[in-house]
This record gives sequence, structure tokens and C-alpha cells, in this order.
Amino acid sequence: MRAIAARGLAHPLTLALLAAASTAAARAWDAGHRVTVTHPAPLSTRERHHRACPTTKPAVVADDLHARYMRAAATWRTHLDNCRPCQDSQYCPAGAPLFERFSRLQDAYNQRLRRR
Ligand SMILES: [Zn+2]
Repeated sequence: MRAIAARGLAHPLTLALLAAASTAAARAWDAGHRVTVTHPAPLSTRERHHRACPTTKPAVVADDLHARYMRAAATWRTHLDNCRPCQDSQYCPAGAPLFERFSRLQDAYNQRLRRR
């Protein structure tokens, strides 16, 4: 817990969040609540990408995965709301790739959270 909070402090947005309520944030982490879910800017991908591509701004990349994840989730949910086969997990030709993309981005995003 302490290590996660310390690393999270490196991010300015997280710093602001934790500065406002560091104790609450610490308790939230201990309870298993992922602060990054409500305030996404994981450090690990920024670091990894920075090593791979030092010329790109890491923060943009970190936000990009989350943005793509959120868009895919919204697109999939919109389709799901209007598609009976998909609601029954009988993914239709239109819904299957949407679900696949959403699942892939969700896995990537969650994996990044776990690696912090
Ligand atoms: Zn469908």
C-alpha cells in the first residue's frame, strides 16, 4: 500500500487528489478500491512507453488507452442495449467485434492497473 501511494504521488493529478485526502485514499486502497478507476493516470504505462519511445509524451499515451477503453465500452454498451442476441451472449456479426475490442481494452487497462 505504501509503495503504491508513494508511486502515485509522482503523478501531479494523483498528487492533488492525495493531497486533498491522502488518508481517505490510503484507506480506499487498503479496502481494495482502485483510486485509478475514478482518477486514471497509471504510471507504469507511462514509464514503459517512455522507455520504448522517449520522444512521445507519456501522459498522452496513458490517457489514450483509457480513452479508447471508455469509447469501446460505450460503443459496446450502446449496441448491447439494442441487440437481443448479444444480450443472450449470442454475439451478432456487428456486436462480436465490439465486444472483442471492449474486452481486449478492458484487459489491457486492468492489467496496467495491476502492474502498478
Ligand atoms: Zn449484437
